[in-house]
Amino acid sequence: MSRFLSKNYEKLVPYTPGEQVNEKVIKLNTNESPFPPSPKVKEVLSEAVIDKLNLYSDPELKELRKAIAEQFDVTPDMVFCGNGSDDVLAFAIMGFCGNGGKLCCPEISYGFYPVYADIFGVELEQIPLKDDFSIDINDYIGKGKNIVIANPNAPTGLALSFEDVEKIVSSNPDNIVIMDEAYMAFCGESCMELVKKYGNLLVTRTFSKSHSLAGLRVGFGIASKEIIDDLNKLKYSFNPYNLNTLSIKAAAAAIADNEYYDDKIAQIVKNREYTVTELKKLGFKCTDSKANFVFVSTDKISAAALAAELRKKGILIRYFNKAKIDNYLRITIGSIEEMQTLVAAIKEITEA
Ligand code: PMP
Repeated sequence: MSRFLSKNYEKLVPYTPGEQVNEKVIKLNTNESPFPPSPKVKEVLSEAVIDKLNLYSDPELKELRKAIAEQFDVTPDMVFCGNGSDDVLAFAIMGFCGNGGKLCCPEISYGFYPVYADIFGVELEQIPLKDDFSIDINDYIGKGKNIVIANPNAPTGLALSFEDVEKIVSSNPDNIVIMDEAYMAFCGESCMELVKKYGNLLVTRTFSKSHSLAGLRVGFGIASKEIIDDLNKLKYSFNPYNLNTLSIKAAAAAIADNEYYDDKIAQIVKNREYTVTELKKLGFKCTDSKANFVFVSTDKISAAALAAELRKKGILIRYFNKAKIDNYLRITIGSIEEMQTLVAAIKEITEA
C-alpha cells in the first residue's frame, strides 16, 4: 500500500476473481460458457465499425437498450446497461444503499456483495442460509432493508420460485429489491415480468454466462423508469461511456439470436444433468442446481484436496476457503466431452 491511499480504503478486502490461465486446461472454475458466441457477433464486428472507433461510444446505448427491451417486452427506458452486471450491481448498491444505507443478502452468495457494501459504506446484514443451503424467504419478508439476492444463488445453484420472489418484493415496498439473475437462463422461473408491477424491483442479468460473452463485459438491469433514471444519473456522474462501441454492437446482435442461444443453453442444462447423475453414482452430494454449475461434496476426499488433484490433471474447478462451504466444490458445466473427462478424473482420484 502506498502512503497516498485514502484511509477509507485501507481495510478494503477486494473481490477475488476466479483464475484466468493461458495454458490449455479444462476450465470449469469461472462459470463461463464452453461455446463460442453467436456467429452474428462476428458479423457485426466489421471493419466499418472498427474504423469508427475514433468516435466516442453512444452514452445512451440506444441500440443495445432497444434490443434488450424487445427481448423482455419492456421499454428501453426501463433498461440500464453496464460493463458486466458487476457494473450494474455497483451502481445500484452505491445509489440505493451507499453512505450508511442498509442492505441485506444471503450469507453464502456472490462474493462481490460484501465488497460493494464495504467500498460504498453500506451497512450490510448477511443472513444465514438453512442447513440445506436454501434461502428461508421468511427472513426477507417485510424486512425493511434493501435486499440483494442472486437467483439462482451462487455458489449453491439453488433457486427461489416466482411466488417466493414476489412475496419478498411486495412485502418490502419502501426498499429496493435487487434480484441478480446472472444464472437465470439455465433455470426458468425469472421474476422479470414483476418489474412492470413493482416499482421497487431491479432485475440484473449478464451476457457473461448464457450468452458466451464473459470477455465482452456487458450486463444489464431492468426496472421502473424511475430506478433506471437514478442509475443513469449516477452513471453520468461517474463514467458516461461505460460500454464501448464494440460491446454495444456485439451484445445487441447476440441478444437477438435466440435460436443459437436456446440450443446452447439446452446443451448446458443436459450436461448439468449428466454431471449430477454421474457424480451421485460416485457417492457425491449435489445441490439441485439450476445454474450453469454444480455445487458438490464427497466424504471420500476433502474439497481442497480434490481441487488440487484435479488441477494436477489439468482441470480447474472452484474451491472456496470459506466457513460452511469449505467442503464443497463449484464446478462449471462445460461441453459434454469436458464433463466426461471430469467425471473420469474424479473417479480415478476418489477410487484410487
Ligand atoms: N452475479 C453473480 C451471482 C455472479 O456469479 C457474477 C459472475 N461472477 C456476476 C453477477 C457478474 O458477472 P458479470 O460482471 O460478468 O456480468
